[in-house]
Amino acid sequence: MVDFSLTDEQREVRDWVRTFVRKEILPLEPEVLRRERTGRPGLEPSELRELQLKAKESGFWGVLTPEEYGGMNLGGVMAALLEAELGRSFVPFRFGGSADNILFFANEEQKETYLKPTIAGDRKSCFAITEPGAGSDARAIRTSARQDGDDWIINGEKTFITGGNEADFTMVFAVTDKEKGANGGVTCFLVDRDAGWKSHPIDTMGEWGPAALTFDNVRVPARNILGEVGRGFELAMRWIGQGRYLLPARAIGSCERLLEMGIDYARTRETFGQPIAERQAIQWMIADSAVEIEALRWLVLHAAWQVDQGMDSRQAQSMAKLYGGIKANEIVDRVLQIHGGMGYTRELPVERWYRELRLLRIYEGTDEIQRRTIARNLLKGHASVSGTLG
Ligand SMILES: Cc1cc2nc3c(=O)[nH]c(=O)nc-3n(C[C@H](O)[C@H](O)[C@H](O)COP(=O)(O)OP(=O)(O)OC[C@H]3O[C@@H](n4cnc5c(N)ncnc54)[C@H](O)[C@@H]3O)c2cc1C
Repeated sequence: MVDFSLTDEQREVRDWVRTFVRKEILPLEPEVLRRERTGRPGLEPSELRELQLKAKESGFWGVLTPEEYGGMNLGGVMAALLEAELGRSFVPFRFGGSADNILFFANEEQKETYLKPTIAGDRKSCFAITEPGAGSDARAIRTSARQDGDDWIINGEKTFITGGNEADFTMVFAVTDKEKGANGGVTCFLVDRDAGWKSHPIDTMGEWGPAALTFDNVRVPARNILGEVGRGFELAMRWIGQGRYLLPARAIGSCERLLEMGIDYARTRETFGQPIAERQAIQWMIADSAVEIEALRWLVLHAAWQVDQGMDSRQAQSMAKLYGGIKANEIVDRVLQIHGGMGYTRELPVERWYRELRLLRIYEGTDEIQRRTIARNLLKGHASVSGTLG
């Protein structure tokens, strides 16, 4: 049986988040826009935390975090539904109580120092693999770590690291065996900022900037290795693959909201004596966007469902990420077009979304890299053109 309906529980949880967004998040939008327009963060960390604690009072804490760590462990489908609700606003809100999936591979001592404080929101992590010479081709990283007694000495440069300006520790990937490289010669280190790495903000066209990190003879004790020496590349791939479906999930909400804005505007804006909604050119933009949002919704939920079933979801996740990135950009462009000159102004948030959604086609695997994955899986026979139904 193919069942496209939500369970009562899914509907209840989704509706709670929908109400939370309407009551607590949407009213912040004008102020967030005002601040961002003057180069300040939309939400101060203390304000984000306050909102997270408010959500926690109703149990919303650690959506994907296991219960033994105080989380809700709601699973992929629920997480995707919630992410779509949060995506309806550009306010940079996310629920508290989560930590990078690879931190759960920490040993008991590391869990106390890194995992649990991250879940509690007392510490901030960042994930650092990309380098100036190694982005899509992550296997080409050159940052190195060499052993010196019980310590390791790290040298190199990382770039575009989200949260790298604020993080107080990083999960950095370094080559520990040049011969083996990504095949058993890359190791992940947990490195406190106190150890001496430096961060520099990178200005982007979006509202928040990643960081460049430099490691100049940064000394790290061997107990700070996450997982095993030489097994870091696998951890990196696990981090990147953890929730690829959640990026386009958020875009579903953004596209819904944008299309609603476009429809409202089209109804009221008159040209040549008629609302522009009467024009076929505008109707086609609305229709195409609605169809694409619907298609995206099912691509994302299907990938999330595969995650919940414990299936190999890589093909489905790549498809959802690729389609979401491309279609969200087409939809925001159409909605900007429907608004005419107003769409291009900073009075409306359309241009803000336009800039933010552009990133979706680049980070955590560009469009081209998703296409490469999808095509390779088909060419090698790992996936079928008839999808899960076979
Ligand atoms: C805002 C932001 C936040 C980020 N956050 C993080 C983070 O937290 N941690 C982290 O480690 N990294 C992060 N990244 C890095 C991001 O993952 C990389 O930018 C991305 O993987 C692309 O790498 P690149 O920029 O080096 O582009 P390149 O790999 O140099 O690619 C350049 C172009 O060539 C194309 N291309 C590359 N290889 C192929 C191929 N084989 N076939 C066809 N086309 C190809 C690409 O698709 C792209 O269009 C972030 C990036 C940005 C912009």
